[in-house]
Amino acid sequence: MAEKLSENIIRDTATAVGVALSEEDVAYISAQFEGFSVLENEAADMRYSADEILYHAQSVGHGGKARCDLRDLVSDLHAGRATSLRVTEDCFERMTTRKDLNNFISENRDAGIAAAKRADVLLASGRGGELCGVPIAVKDNINVKGLPVTCASRIFSEAKAASSAECVKRIEEAGGVIVGKTNMDELAMGSTDESSAFGAVKNALDITRVPGGSSGGSANAVAARQAVCALGTDTGGSIRQPAAYCGVVGLKPTFGAVSCDGLVGFVPSLDTIGVLAPDCDSAGIVFGVMSGRKLAPANAELFGKTIGIADEFASGEIASDEVRKQFENAIAFAAEHGARIVRVRLPSFTAALAAYHVLSSAEAATNILASVPKNKLASTGGEVRRRIVAGVLAGGCELYEKARNVRERLCREYAEAFGYCDVLLSPTSPTTATVLGASRDPNKSHYGDYFLAPASLAGLPAASVPFGDTVLPVGIHIVGNYGCEQTVLDIGSALEYKAATK
Ligand code: GLN
Repeated sequence: MAEKLSENIIRDTATAVGVALSEEDVAYISAQFEGFSVLENEAADMRYSADEILYHAQSVGHGGKARCDLRDLVSDLHAGRATSLRVTEDCFERMTTRKDLNNFISENRDAGIAAAKRADVLLASGRGGELCGVPIAVKDNINVKGLPVTCASRIFSEAKAASSAECVKRIEEAGGVIVGKTNMDELAMGSTDESSAFGAVKNALDITRVPGGSSGGSANAVAARQAVCALGTDTGGSIRQPAAYCGVVGLKPTFGAVSCDGLVGFVPSLDTIGVLAPDCDSAGIVFGVMSGRKLAPANAELFGKTIGIADEFASGEIASDEVRKQFENAIAFAAEHGARIVRVRLPSFTAALAAYHVLSSAEAATNILASVPKNKLASTGGEVRRRIVAGVLAGGCELYEKARNVRERLCREYAEAFGYCDVLLSPTSPTTATVLGASRDPNKSHYGDYFLAPASLAGLPAASVPFGDTVLPVGIHIVGNYGCEQTVLDIGSALEYKAATK
């Protein structure tokens, strides 16, 4: 067992780095470090009987055309059945009528309308790139020239970005119309969007609930059709978890596949920029533009695919009954449509979330303390201040080495699993969208990323797709091998929105 971290050490560290903590914050960090004791457990023996088949393929494949809202819209725009001006104005209209959702920190009305008009001219003359005239929202930690970049924090001046992030430049070159900057957890730390300095975001499907975070504004804007797609960032789950809570698709690409140039980094060794979209194929198109690696249209086919399910996904009482039921339905659906479902073991999985918090807090604290003047730290919210102090403590103790070891072991375990699996499947989030203002027990609220942080530590591509016919959406998490976004989205497009089989 890890020695309990004394509350005095937490207080002294806070004083030393010049960060004010409440007694509640001190207790929170202390409880969090108790949770890190999971890092002390040696991972189980790696040798196991791989490739044990859990379900046999029962039918031939159905193949099929994936849903693609974006492809349909682009063909309507090119055929003159729709205009970008109209589609963009509709988004702005919904931004006005659903202002209560608080999805946007800044709106790009004038420049957005001008861009839409330019797109219509191009479209009318048969030109225009892949995203010509398509309204797209951008999370407020990614630079868009001429717009403020606040990261939902008071520590940044409202100065406007002098140039756009590399991925935004590519989207604009492809004709995308930027409609605004979306709300998020402060500095991308969090899972609910409640820590924003600009106020919490309310879930479009149920305004008493959170949209998830930290890319909650982006996911919710897509759900509320205030943009066709949105850019988000995912360091330990921040695209996939809000996608699940809002009933949209969220794609976190392979680490490094999309340039992070022009992103205000949270944890540079884990940060990725990805997409929130109405469906997998749409996400793939935007990913293709941002990465320069164009994907084929998604092929909604499960036949012949090998899907791995890790024992560790089921460990403990992590997922709620409702989520577990949808996950089982998804597995049954995949098996019925010809996928081979096999068992894999990822013994380090259960310690990965603690490793993520140790490593990410340590790296984030180093960055913030090096780049933010001390007098500005006072204006940050509790979550940021707690992470700084926890990060300084985590970076300086033996937990750090243990967390690094977990990360290394996990990468080897994934490599072994991808030796015989196309993808791994789990639930995205243990629960459906939680209510606003729910309890902030660190070892409960951080469980939200239990299924997600491991793929971040390994740098693997992953997506969340909505599955089933529940009142509040449930997401299924699909993880692929390095560079295999296409496989992730193909399988995702076969699963997305499928009504439950039972
Ligand atoms: N929810 C996770 C955290 O709080 C992930 C954040 C992220 O991916 N930006 O750290």
